[in-house]
Amino acid sequence: MHRRKKLFVDKVEEISFCGNQMFQFTGGEYEIPFSIQPTDCAHNFENCESCRENHELLMKEIRPLTDKFPFCCEQHAKLTEFPDFNIEDYKNLDKEIADKVYFTHHHIIDRIDNEDWYEDITDYIAYVTESIGTLPPQYGGSFQLGSYFLYVLELIRTVENSITSDEISKKEIKIRIEKIKAFINSFRKDNPENKNPDLNLLLSTYHKWYKIFPFELTYFNNIRERYRTNIPILAEPFHLNRYSNVKVAKLHTKESLTQSLIDTTKNILSQVNGNSLLKAGLLTDTEKIKYDLIIKKRETELFEMQLIDNSKQSGYIKVLKKWLKGEKKFIDEITPYLKNKSQKNREDKQEITVLKFALYIYYMQAAGKIEYFENHSNGKLAAIEELLEGSKVIDTTAKYFQIAYNKISNHKTNRIANNQISNISFVAKKMLNKYPEARNIALEELKLAQSKNR
Ligand SMILES: [Zn+2]
Ligand SMILES: [Zn+2]
Repeated sequence: MHRRKKLFVDKVEEISFCGNQMFQFTGGEYEIPFSIQPTDCAHNFENCESCRENHELLMKEIRPLTDKFPFCCEQHAKLTEFPDFNIEDYKNLDKEIADKVYFTHHHIIDRIDNEDWYEDITDYIAYVTESIGTLPPQYGGSFQLGSYFLYVLELIRTVENSITSDEISKKEIKIRIEKIKAFINSFRKDNPENKNPDLNLLLSTYHKWYKIFPFELTYFNNIRERYRTNIPILAEPFHLNRYSNVKVAKLHTKESLTQSLIDTTKNILSQVNGNSLLKAGLLTDTEKIKYDLIIKKRETELFEMQLIDNSKQSGYIKVLKKWLKGEKKFIDEITPYLKNKSQKNREDKQEITVLKFALYIYYMQAAGKIEYFENHSNGKLAAIEELLEGSKVIDTTAKYFQIAYNKISNHKTNRIANNQISNISFVAKKMLNKYPEARNIALEELKLAQSKNR
C-alpha cells in the first residue's frame, strides 16, 4: 500500500522540564485516502446476496454528498485553495466508503470468536480509519469518517443477536460485541475525549511529581537519573498495527498519568526503604538521612497545602507522607544500634596495633604454634605477606610489620622494655587466651619486664 502523507508544522515550541529540553510541534497532517482490500472472511460479498444489495443501497444513500465533495460544506470547500489538494485523489468516494463499511463489518463477524479477536478487530478498524485520509485541522474532519463509524455500528446492531459460533457462547459474543462498540465510540475522532492531550500539561504534571518525590534522599541516588530522563508520557508501549504496519502509542491523559504516578510512587517506595539500605550496607550516615527526612517531610506537607483542592494529585502525596513518616521512625529506632556497632568496630580495630600483633606472633612462634618466618620456602617477606593476608587483624604492609617484628624478636631487651609492659599484658590476656603455652611465655616475660623496670 502506497501512502501519501504530509506533515505540517505550524509552530515549534521548546519546552524545558526536569533539566531536559524537548520540542513540541503543533500543526497537522494531510493524507490522501487509499483503497483497501477485504480480509479473508467466511461471510463475504460472493456468498451473501443481502450484503451486495445493501452495499448498493449504501452507495446510493451517500452519493449525493460524495458527488458534491469538496463543496459539501464550507470547511471542505476551502480545500480547493489547499496547495496539495487534487480532486483526482478523491474518486469513487461512494464505492470507497461503502466498501470500507462492509469490509469492516465482515471482518468483525468473522474474527469475533478468534483468540486474538480484540487486537485483530481494533487494528483493522484503526487501519480503515487511516485509509479514509486526514485533512489539516482548519479544513474540517476527514470526509465521511463519522459516517463510516455510524454505518459500522448500525450494521453490528442489525446482526448482533444472530451471530453464532462453535467456539464461544452466545453470552461471550454479546460481551465482545459490546467491547467493539465501546472501542469504536472511544476511537471516533469527533469524540472530545479522544483529542490528543496537551504535551505541556503532561510534562508539567510529571515535573510536579518529580519535584516532590524525595529523589534527593540517599535512598534514591541510584534511580534518580532514570526518572529525570525517562518521562512516561505514553500510556502504553508502542504497538505495531498488523494491517497498516504502523507503530502507534497512546499518550497519557492528565488523569491517567497521575494515576500511573501514584502507582509508580507506591512501587518505588515498597522497594526502597531503610531496611533495604541496611541490607545493602548503605545505611551509614543516619544523622544526615534523619535530617533529610525531616526536611522532606515538611516540604511535602507544604506542597500538599498548595494543592488542597486537587484530590487526584494528593494521591501520591499521601503515599509519600506515610513513607517519610515510617522511614523517620525506622531510622530513629535503628540509629543507636548502628552507633554501638560502629563504635565497637573502631575499638576492636584500635586495640590491636602492629606492635601487639608482632608480639603475639613472636610468642606463638616461641610456643611452636606458628612456623618461624625464616622456615618459609619463599623467604621471610613472603611468609609475612601470607600471614597478614590470612589474619586480616591489622592493616599494614609486610615491610612495616617486618621492621616491628625484627625489633622485638631480635633483642630481648627491646621486648621487655618499660614501654612494652602494657602491650605484653594485652597480648597475654586478650590475644593468647586460647594458647596456654604461648600465654605462659608471654606472662613470664611480663613478670621480667615488670621486675626489671620497677
Ligand atoms: Zn451478508
Ligand atoms: Zn463537507
